[in-house]
Order: sequence, then structure tokens, then C-alpha cells
Amino acid sequence: MIHKFVEFIPENLEEGIIYITIKYATAVHSCACGCGKEVVTPLSPTDWKLTYDGATITLSPSIGNWNFECKSHYWIINSEVEWADQWSNEMIQEGRTQDRYEKSKYYKKEKSDLGDTHQDSKSEIKEEIKKLNLMMRTLRRMKEYLFSTK
Ligand SMILES: [Zn+2]
Repeated sequence: MIHKFVEFIPENLEEGIIYITIKYATAVHSCACGCGKEVVTPLSPTDWKLTYDGATITLSPSIGNWNFECKSHYWIINSEVEWADQWSNEMIQEGRTQDRYEKSKYYKKEKSDLGDTHQDSKSEIKEEIKKLNLMMRTLRRMKEYLFSTK
């Protein structure tokens, strides 16, 4: 994508060009998917941030054309259009993880309904008693050792 610093945004946008007007703090370009829709990105601390490194421009955050039929979503990084497919894949992944979490919660609940939790707490108590016994034995041995050396 080529950037052009202009005073006024032209009537007809050329594809592949991002027009930037500093005067009106706005960047305008024709949708990167080629659908021809006009994408207006106001530049402000609460809208888009434009970075110009002397050769290329970067816009952040990403451009999500949810209102267009194409619903395209991309970034303009160093004047290159980076499609945000990866991002939506991540979102799908996140959704799957959430699903797994819900499922495991569901199965845990089912297990406890079958009385497994009761069994678990029983063996947990047994484990605690074992630990206590071991501690007592260790203490007794320590006591014996201390008294025998004195
Ligand atoms: Zn489009």
C-alpha cells in the first residue's frame, strides 16, 4: 500500500493508496479486499494511531470493516496489508479451549454426582493420617536421639 500525504481527500480513491491528511487528522483508503468501499480512519489518541518512519506507514489498531459486506479485517504494517486471519484462528482456538474447560467442569460435576468425591475425601483423610503418623514417628526418634546423647 502506497501512502500519500494530501491536503484534501480526493473524490475518487485509487486502490492501494492510503491518503493521509494531517490537517484533518484522518487517513482514508479503499478497502484492501478490493470491494471498493471507503475506509475512513480518524487519527486521534482514541481512534487510530499513524506511525510514519519516513518511508512506510503503520496504522494501529487493526482495521475491521465489520459494517461492510466483505467484513475484512487487516492491519497496515510498514505499508503492507497484513490480513488478520491468524488473529481469528486464535479466537477460534480460544473458543475451543473455553469449550474444553466447560466440558471438564461438566464431567467433574457428573463424577461427583456418582459419589466419587466422597471416595476421594476418604482416601485423602487416609493420606493425612499416614502423614501424621510419619511425623509422630520422626518426632519420637528425634526425642530418643536427643535423650540418648545427653
Ligand atoms: Zn472490502
